[in-house]
Amino acid sequence: MKDNQINLQDMKSAADMIRKGGLVAFPTETVYGLGGDATSPDASRKIYEAKGRPSDNPLIVHIADFSQLVQIVDKVPPEAELLAKKFWPGPLTMILNKNEMIPYETTGGLDTVAIRMPSHPVALAFLRESRCMIAAPSANTSGRPSPTSASHVWEDLQGRIDGIIDGGDVEIGIESTIVDLTDEIPTVLRPGFITMEMLEEVLGQVRLDPGIASENTKVPPKAPGMRYRHYAPKAELTLVEGEVIRVVDKINDLAEDAYQRGMKVGIIATEETKEEYALGEVVSIGSREDESEVAHHLYGVLRAFDELGVDVIYSESFPSAGVGQAVMNRLLKAAGHKRIIV
Ligand code: AMP
Ligand code: MG
Repeated sequence: MKDNQINLQDMKSAADMIRKGGLVAFPTETVYGLGGDATSPDASRKIYEAKGRPSDNPLIVHIADFSQLVQIVDKVPPEAELLAKKFWPGPLTMILNKNEMIPYETTGGLDTVAIRMPSHPVALAFLRESRCMIAAPSANTSGRPSPTSASHVWEDLQGRIDGIIDGGDVEIGIESTIVDLTDEIPTVLRPGFITMEMLEEVLGQVRLDPGIASENTKVPPKAPGMRYRHYAPKAELTLVEGEVIRVVDKINDLAEDAYQRGMKVGIIATEETKEEYALGEVVSIGSREDESEVAHHLYGVLRAFDELGVDVIYSESFPSAGVGQAVMNRLLKAAGHKRIIV
């Protein structure tokens, strides 16, 4: 169903469900979220249970109006106002110090809270109709790629939640940028569609969480969710990095080798390279020239390989400028940091 076809009655009953403490999945511009009343400890506990998510991994609180932010934090720093003006509604999550309105069940025991105002019209309508702030992590089973369509949500969570609002395919396809405003220097805990450069333009200085800047670091990522292996397809994924021609050669060698060992091989290729592979299930993730298109297709492609039942996946790498940084961050996590540099 397209977002403009969602009927008012369905929206009202979904909103009712939230008010009664139930769980409803809904579309946002980033990925589908699994929503529950953010002020209800019970609803948050149910979210963790439905996803099989570790309960120390906090949820993002979704709001429809800036005045709701004021209600749940101890104070609103000027940086938050500037960022909200520029990027809300939109794919940016801010971390601020919480007050007692938001229970520890929602924040995984932390004194800080993650907040976002989504721009998807269905998400905003749903938030307004429910008159609640809605805690929502991605609506996938913990560890699986995030859902970018209602059917992905259905695959993972059918029978475990009270409803799904089907708004069609999402627009962006990777999760929001998370910026922590509780440190002296604003810190990006998770790269996303809103890039470091865009944040710097508004705030001046911004840094990347040292815990995700490099996989060799001994510092754990600050966002609990970034510590787990995540976004994972069922098959073992390896990233191959380097000049494109050499990457294609290497993947062809690896695919041949795996094939000889009786394995079913998947290859994440691009529009520019997809004809260059000799064997395996080759799936194009989009054009190398367009990082947004690659981001948009990423999780759908990982899920497609699950359906194809491949044993190993080899993926090309992508330039890490702009939203490419978020794409590479997700791919490296999906690969458990397995990479070959040629
Ligand atoms: P998800 O919505 O499934 O993408 O998960 C939300 C992400 O936000 C996870 O990586 C969490 O660890 C992160 N997060 C939520 N609240 C906080 C917080 N208070 N401090 C740091 N990270 C947070
Ligand atoms: Mg998630």
